[in-house]
Amino acid sequence: MSLSMRRVLGSRALRPPLVRTLVSMPKLIPEAVPTGSTQIFRTVEEVKRWRRPQYTCHRVIGLVPTMGALHEGHLSLISAAVKECDHVVVSMYVNPAQFGPHEDLDSYPANWDSDLEILAALEKKLAKKISAVFAPTTKEMYPFGFPGQEVDSKGSFVIITPLSERLEGKSRPTFFRGVATVCMKLLNIVQPDKVFFGQKDIQQSLVIQRMVDDLMVPTKVIVCPTVREPDGLARSSRNVYLGTRRRKVAKVLHDALASAKQQYLNGRADRSSILGSANGLLESTQATQVSLPAEERVRFEVDYVSFADRFTMDEVEEVDPSRGAIVSAAIKMLPVELATPGEDVGYNGGPAVRLIDNMILEPSG
Ligand code: AMP
Repeated sequence: MSLSMRRVLGSRALRPPLVRTLVSMPKLIPEAVPTGSTQIFRTVEEVKRWRRPQYTCHRVIGLVPTMGALHEGHLSLISAAVKECDHVVVSMYVNPAQFGPHEDLDSYPANWDSDLEILAALEKKLAKKISAVFAPTTKEMYPFGFPGQEVDSKGSFVIITPLSERLEGKSRPTFFRGVATVCMKLLNIVQPDKVFFGQKDIQQSLVIQRMVDDLMVPTKVIVCPTVREPDGLARSSRNVYLGTRRRKVAKVLHDALASAKQQYLNGRADRSSILGSANGLLESTQATQVSLPAEERVRFEVDYVSFADRFTMDEVEEVDPSRGAIVSAAIKMLPVELATPGEDVGYNGGPAVRLIDNMILEPSG
């Protein structure tokens, strides 16, 4: 091996396998969550070492990719995985590549200790084991250096177009590139038989499904239903940014989509009925809020309201009865203008929060 090649590959590539095993011996006793059963892996090598014997035992392995800050939405995915698989790996990694340069990477909620407690409580509730948490560093996930968050950053990326360019991809041009790339890495590391995603991020689930199909990744993508708060707001790690006032108004996103779905259930399948209903509710709520004094009102912008094909997310004029459709929307809750004394304005000072949600209009024929 040339000297320059050694520099590129780093010292790891130089160690013969036996030496590598001995050097990493201390990691054979992994950390564990409070129940003492879930193993915590920090390195790719640890996961691979754990994974290897599972092949010969024909164990079904499930992977649930998350960015931590666990809530009921994540837990529903983990519960589904535990039901369907012999071993479940939950990855917790805040992937910088899926945040734009001006997004909330630095303030993204991180609750490592409470995440582990939540997992331990879930294990108890399910009376079943979560085999491992994989929580790597960015150096581990991008061993040749993090390529950056800019649109023109150079590096090894998985890019799924045109799906990734639509809707969320328009507002966040590097988002799906970051998601697809990190998910491909996770799939290669864990090699799960099944990987679990949430319908809450429907476009993300479709991008991953397309990636798996197109690149022939040997795993099954399972999409689990959206878990909601009692008033309908989809659970999200970012909801903590909202604070009390904005939290109350944020339910409009769910209500608008639910009214669109109701149109469909009432027999309307055309674009203007379905979108008209959702847009009408968003606009009337905006009008009501604008009329309130600054210390009471909530301002939000509508990024998009979409009525699209169930798989390609191409905008459609009518629901195709054999395919169904998706109504989805994104709104940006703007920061509170004038806080009253002692008001809870939200985590990290209540920055602008972008919320997304969707409803599936099931095929009818
Ligand atoms: P995140 O940690 O936000 O990247 O989400 C990890 C996974 O949890 C993704 O597949 C999300 O779609 C899924 N997820 C997040 N929120 C919900 C929810 N409210 N209901 C169901 N799945 C969710």
